[in-house]
Amino acid sequence: MIKKWFEIVSDHRISLRERMFRIVTGVCMIAITFTLPMGRSIWNILIMVASLVLMAVIVKASIRRKRVQTGATVIAVLLLSLFPITFFSAGGFYSGVPEWFVLCFIYVCITLQGRRRTVFFGLCTVETMLCYGTAFYFPEIAAPSSSHNALFDSAFSMIMVGLLTSILLMFLNKMYEEENALSQRQKKEIEELNRAENHFFSSMSHEIRTPINTIIGLNEIILREDISEEVAENARNIQGASKMLLSLINDILDISKIKSGKMEIVNVSYETGALFSEIVNMIWIKAKEKGLEFKLQVDSSIPSMLCGDEVRIKQILINLLNNAVKYTSEGSVTLSVRCERQTVNRVRVWYSVEDTGQGVKKENIPYIFNAFRRVDEERNRYIEGTGLGLSIVQQLVNLMGGEISVNSVYTKGSKFIVMLDQDIVDERELGTFTLASRARAHEGEPYRQSFEAPEAHILVVDDNDMNLMVVTKLLADTKIQIDTASSGAECLRLTQSHHYDCILMDHMMPEMDGIQCLHALRMQPAGLCQDAPVVALTANAGSDNQLLYRKEGFSGYLAKPVSGALLEAAVLSILPKGLVQRNEEARQAEIEKDILIFEQAQRRSILVTTDSVCDLPASLRRNFNISVCPYYVCTEEGRFLDGQEMYPDELLMHIAGGRKGSSQPPEVEDYERFFAEKLTEAQNIIHITMAKHVSEGYQNALEAAKSFENVTVIDSGHLSSSMGLAVLCAAYMAEHHAAKAEIVEAVKRMEHFISSAFIINSTHMMCQSGRISKKIQILCDALLLHPVLELKKSRMVVGRMELGSFSQASKRYIRQTLQDTRNIDRRILFITYSGMEEKQLQHIQSLVQQYCPFERVYLQKASSAIASNCGPGSFGLLFLRRDDAAVPFFETPDWNGAA
Ligand code: ADP
Repeated sequence: MIKKWFEIVSDHRISLRERMFRIVTGVCMIAITFTLPMGRSIWNILIMVASLVLMAVIVKASIRRKRVQTGATVIAVLLLSLFPITFFSAGGFYSGVPEWFVLCFIYVCITLQGRRRTVFFGLCTVETMLCYGTAFYFPEIAAPSSSHNALFDSAFSMIMVGLLTSILLMFLNKMYEEENALSQRQKKEIEELNRAENHFFSSMSHEIRTPINTIIGLNEIILREDISEEVAENARNIQGASKMLLSLINDILDISKIKSGKMEIVNVSYETGALFSEIVNMIWIKAKEKGLEFKLQVDSSIPSMLCGDEVRIKQILINLLNNAVKYTSEGSVTLSVRCERQTVNRVRVWYSVEDTGQGVKKENIPYIFNAFRRVDEERNRYIEGTGLGLSIVQQLVNLMGGEISVNSVYTKGSKFIVMLDQDIVDERELGTFTLASRARAHEGEPYRQSFEAPEAHILVVDDNDMNLMVVTKLLADTKIQIDTASSGAECLRLTQSHHYDCILMDHMMPEMDGIQCLHALRMQPAGLCQDAPVVALTANAGSDNQLLYRKEGFSGYLAKPVSGALLEAAVLSILPKGLVQRNEEARQAEIEKDILIFEQAQRRSILVTTDSVCDLPASLRRNFNISVCPYYVCTEEGRFLDGQEMYPDELLMHIAGGRKGSSQPPEVEDYERFFAEKLTEAQNIIHITMAKHVSEGYQNALEAAKSFENVTVIDSGHLSSSMGLAVLCAAYMAEHHAAKAEIVEAVKRMEHFISSAFIINSTHMMCQSGRISKKIQILCDALLLHPVLELKKSRMVVGRMELGSFSQASKRYIRQTLQDTRNIDRRILFITYSGMEEKQLQHIQSLVQQYCPFERVYLQKASSAIASNCGPGSFGLLFLRRDDAAVPFFETPDWNGAA
């Protein structure tokens, strides 16, 4: 019986509550059995035995009827009734019974729930007080007990209750541990299941895209032929149906990605004009076909380039516009875009899509964003849809940190408004953007290839023969010589003996996938295509793949199913111009950015980048094409991007208010994103960082660079504008087509010729950022000591201390720094400062002129990240020492315009 009881209490199929009920009731029954000998009368013993039997019956009945709570309540009542009887018959508080009553409290606590538990706690307490009170005031009621008996009873009860309670806790603990292990196991299984589900969705989407690619491709070839109107009509219907199927697959894939938290927002710089024209081109024709007027109102003050997830913004707007066209039978569809400046570098953009269609009933509005939910089913019976679109739109908007709202009047029309904040990349205004200037008709025109290139030779690699056939046929009219390979290995065999002007490479292939094949190609000994442009042909659509393909070194990517026009556009932009004969009359190829990214053609060879702490004037950065990756500035209010979300003056005001502020370098992922984006502009990146022992920026950038083949990270050994000097030199050399090795060499050499020293007014911020101890700070303040910080071997050291008032100390610092005039390169000086007044700066400038006049002096405000380290009232004189070989950019005057 005991074995059975053990089996039951460890059986996971039985509910936890029932098992606990069994355990605790069992323990209480054991307790009653032990108190039996304490009963002084036969009646008393009989009552207890009857209670035991009754309890066993209650447990059995309540479990059978699944009324555990009721059973527990009845048993609690029984225990409460037994207590006074045994208490007084065993000798009142001079017995062991009170100890046993503790178990009644435990019983109530474990088996009862909610209000019942509270009530029974109250009852237990009241009963204990009453029994004790009665025994105290009327001691004659309690049966007499010898002190010997009382002592024995009490000690025995104490030990037994202690033991039973411990056993009970051990049991419960074991049960909880088992339950915990079980739920962990189940969690793992669910995660595994989720992973399998996602894998299933993505491979399903991949597998379905491959045959659709064939259908769409071959169908396009049929449409190009000279066919009867009836066949053409059928072919157009096939085209429509396949596109519909494709968009459905994309939606399902998106939903599964969002659900599993794998949907990533990839922010890139994009042209607002190009985005709107693409959207207009897609929607305008649909509206026209339905007899609807399409209106466009774009705020002319929108910056011409913004930074955001262009692909997803387009997806959101197209979804809303498609719905507007779908649910409107007459009238118009209007897209309006308006923007408002948030900060210097950020705008808030409102996109509104308004229609004069059927609208949504007020009571249905809360449900339209639910996945798979279509409202007003009766009315929408003949309108195609799945109810996924708006759900995806809403979740994408949320992921981008924006908002979406809807205003709709049933039977009159709807207005969807999306609000998104975006960074400004180019402030120039977009200007007037009209429909007529952007929309272009393309339906119904006969196909004509956009170019011919009979001398060009390309290779298409795909494990699916149908795909190879489709690409070959779609490009047939361009007369390009096309070879095909059905595996990575075959591709490598062909490139051993042939040179190709371009390679179109499938991603997912068995044995060697497209990415592995590309890497092998780049390192192929004696291979003839080591530098050939390779375009990924992929069924893995999605903006996050942009990053992947870019990172791996592809020249661009084309998402399957690919249309003839896109293929032509892709190949055209890659083939050497000398091999191509353009067909002027042919219509312009449509290049949709989510499908195709081609950068190679416009990319410069080397781009010099650095961190926001380089403290170079914006004009110099612009003229030398220097991009900066922002550091972070951390305050109690959060983490802000240096120079974008937090400006030096704001930070200094914050610090002046007695609050904290510190800097933090970009994280590895920040650098990865930055490099990936910059690699759209250049084939190689040289990134120059702050001294490696001063900040972790160098290590992080180095780590991020490992993900790319063509990013070189150099430690400038300096910080602020002195690091800026190295950056300027590198950028100048890059502009003048110096080789990568030359630039790297020059920057490394320069480290020893840059003079980098700052004088600090108050050591308060240095102490706060942990660079000096509190004791030293107090000492410096008390003795009016101002440290001069210098950079040596990539470390910041205190070079010397200046004594006295800050103005005297500054004067001595300037004199001493500029002492060795013969060795100073006088062409450029940065006076980089933090929190100083105009008058002080003028004074510093005049002192500099007095000791060592420079040709060009830049008064540069230190970035917030630098300011957070040295605090207000600090400045540095940063310049180069003479070294004829190291600084080529001063030899020519063409950077003058930059001043
Ligand atoms: P569907 O594939 O059904 O269009 P959506 O998620 O895009 O799915 O939209 C959900 C529901 O919201 C639609 O079924 C429709 O009833 C309603 N709806 C969406 N946009 C509009 C609109 N512009 N006018 C009227 N009703 C709309």
